[in-house]
Amino acid sequence: MPFIITDPCIGTKDTACVDVCPVDCIHPRKDEPEFARTTMLYIHPDECIDCGACVPACPVAAIYDSTDSTPPSQKGLIEANAVYRTGDDAAVSKAEQLVQAHVAAHADLMAVPPAERAAAHAK
Ligand code: SF4
Ligand code: SF4
Repeated sequence: MPFIITDPCIGTKDTACVDVCPVDCIHPRKDEPEFARTTMLYIHPDECIDCGACVPACPVAAIYDSTDSTPPSQKGLIEANAVYRTGDDAAVSKAEQLVQAHVAAHADLMAVPPAERAAAHAK
């Protein structure tokens, strides 16, 4: 069961999670060309080993430890994490489309500062 990055990453995207992931499954990294065009980061579901290191590293609590624990408001981003692939332009575009759809559908959450957004997920 992979870990999932959700919307507090939008507007934060500081790559703190990338620095602690032992299997380099969080992308794009700052040194990848896709970094400039992505709204948030994504966890590759097949490469994540469920170690949990990224969760305490995230300053805005954007990462959930499974698809089941991902709150209902964030379910659309599960697929965004799943489809993103560095180096695959179509996959990057698809992931970003899913993120933009999430943003459009959750203006309420987007109005909350990123650091407080995770607390608003349960509401
Ligand atoms: S749980 Fe571990 S392997 Fe999975 S994304 Fe986080 S740091 Fe990487
Ligand atoms: S640590 Fe959190 S906010 Fe920073 S890039 Fe990773 S998921 Fe996004």
